[in-house]
Amino acid sequence: MLAAMSRPIIGHLDPAFIAMMEEMRAMLQSAFKTRNALTLPVSAPGSAGMETCFVNLVEPGDKVIVCINGVFGGRMKENVERCGGTAVTVEDDWGTPVSVDKVESALQAHPDARLLAFVHAETSTGAESDVQALCELAHRHDCLALVDAVTSLGGSPLHVDDWGVDAIYSGSQKCLSCTPGLSPVSFSERAVERIRSRRSRVQSWFLDLNLVMGYWIGSDGKRAYHHTAPINALYALHEALVILHEEGLEASWARHRRHHEALRAGLEGMGLHFLVDQAHRLPQLNAVLVPEGVDEAGVRAALLERYGLEIGAGLGPYAGRIWRIGLMGHAANERNVLVCLGALESILAEAGAAVPGKALPAARAVYGEQLRREAA
Ligand SMILES: *Cc1c(COP(=O)(O)O)cnc(C)c1O
Repeated sequence: MLAAMSRPIIGHLDPAFIAMMEEMRAMLQSAFKTRNALTLPVSAPGSAGMETCFVNLVEPGDKVIVCINGVFGGRMKENVERCGGTAVTVEDDWGTPVSVDKVESALQAHPDARLLAFVHAETSTGAESDVQALCELAHRHDCLALVDAVTSLGGSPLHVDDWGVDAIYSGSQKCLSCTPGLSPVSFSERAVERIRSRRSRVQSWFLDLNLVMGYWIGSDGKRAYHHTAPINALYALHEALVILHEEGLEASWARHRRHHEALRAGLEGMGLHFLVDQAHRLPQLNAVLVPEGVDEAGVRAALLERYGLEIGAGLGPYAGRIWRIGLMGHAANERNVLVCLGALESILAEAGAAVPGKALPAARAVYGEQLRREAA
């Protein structure tokens, strides 16, 4: 990836670069499992992909149902309001998925809502929501469905077309293991229709898809300069997508799941408990409760200083109460799982926590079982 970034810088309308853009769009379509023509990477991080979706789809006065079960749903509400829309929020406890029943009641109570927005993989808690069920509900109530897939793309099953997603954004640096700074997005025909029939101009010039399309897709074989594309960052994304396609999307989903199972067994083997119940746990984001009396930040600092391992802190109501262990992209591997378990268990034991010392045997048993299953 870094080697790809150091390739010679060429013009953003160079025929060789345009050929690469087309490859990238095709690879993004298969990563999202979509045939959406309007699929491209926004030239800025995941938050800009989020804004791209909202500024293009929300007009002043529009009503939007926004699901909040963690940090990122809260940001969606901000976006709706800054676009002049009215956000109707459906709130669920942090650590639980978005409640399909509550969303259905909100859609019934607000038949004038035009959009339903929610997060697939809530990175602040490690909870996964049911994209397919929520999209079906949205369509049944004449709403478009807008999905945050920043942490899910490449790491968890995601079928944009089959599940009926209308607008989706992701990020380069989570399960795609690319450098930060780019946000793949994709829009269905229905969403494109909504954008084309807007009553008002998109308030952001930079994120206005009508203009961005002129560069990324063009018309009559001609492309127009809109902004200077971050050429080297796009080399890296191209490389990350090639790596994903060489492994295979389904194989990548399965790898995240496999290493999560081993990590889970190990964490439970050292007596830790997950925040999210098993049915809604993301493989790529493992949130565990900090045991009573343990210095939460001290443990993270020791992991980083002594083992070069960084784990995340809790956010919002879970600040100081959970650790968030990421297994994203190429970081989802056996070495990381075993090093993390061994290191965390030693640090907890040193801190005087009652750890049963069963983390590594439990993880190894899961890996052994997986090998036996594969061989069978
Ligand atoms: C990381 C993240 C974002 C924001 O992405 P940035 O690249 O940091 O702007 C948005 N939503 C979710 C669920 C995320 O995990």
